[in-house]
Amino acid sequence: MEYKEMAASDEALEGMNEVKSAPSYTRMNHADLCSKRRSFADKAETYVDRKTGPAYHLASIAKDAIHWGLIQEREKGETGRDRERHITQYVMPRMAECKYLSDKQAAANRNWLVFMVVRYLNSEKRRVTFPPAAEVMVGGEKRRVWCDAAFVDENDPEAVTLVVYKIRKPDMTMTGSENAFERDIQLDSLILYGRQLGYKKITAAYYYLRKENDHIGQNLKCEPYFFGGGKNVVQKTDEYTGTPDEIDEELAALSKMEEDGLAPEEETEDWCRNCRFHVLCLYKKAPLRAGTEET
Ligand code: SF4
Repeated sequence: MEYKEMAASDEALEGMNEVKSAPSYTRMNHADLCSKRRSFADKAETYVDRKTGPAYHLASIAKDAIHWGLIQEREKGETGRDRERHITQYVMPRMAECKYLSDKQAAANRNWLVFMVVRYLNSEKRRVTFPPAAEVMVGGEKRRVWCDAAFVDENDPEAVTLVVYKIRKPDMTMTGSENAFERDIQLDSLILYGRQLGYKKITAAYYYLRKENDHIGQNLKCEPYFFGGGKNVVQKTDEYTGTPDEIDEELAALSKMEEDGLAPEEETEDWCRNCRFHVLCLYKKAPLRAGTEET
């Protein structure tokens, strides 16, 4: 398919900021759907903008480093030791964006980040392309959808894998608990986006850069290859024949669930435990001593 490739950063999304992006599982867990929690989030002055934390910056550095590394390989055939050296040189100055409290903390995070990026790049043998972000109709609403990288099957130009990278360990599985996989709107939206780009056989995937058993303490203890085991590839595939299929049905139901939310009574103790308004919501005043008046 012909398209102008997307740049490595959010610049490519400029002008599309008013359009909502498709929520992923992380924003569609049960607690996030709670109507009470939503009202807290609307009012809370202490609401934390996730775009200011180190994790956000680390993810952005990793994605840009992968983008850059994939281009280096595609355009210059760069692999191996040169790759590792260049990725390190790329990542080092950008670590300042994370505003870690100490150089030691920054260095520790840089080490594992470089390892994860290089491990992935060394394992990725397909030719990459970067389709531009697009507005896609998802469940009757316009959504902003994009992927970090796309790999077209070299034997079948109608088949593509659209990838979104995540720097954490896998936090859901394809058979996972509480139907997180089925509730993920982002993967389904990526499939619609793939159709819009003109592909017919579409795989939408999350590539978690850290594997389940990777240890990133003082000494890295990680598996040497990105693919194979580790539950770090979570993906959904669709073959589009030109008529709506189960992906469309699933999206319509998920969009309605997202819109309607859940009543607080429907939340279980487990779901509430991970809610960041847990304390605020379940706070109970201490019982008054006999004879005292409530103020
Ligand atoms: S603690 Fe539970 S009921 Fe309260 S706002 Fe959070 S999800 Fe809703």
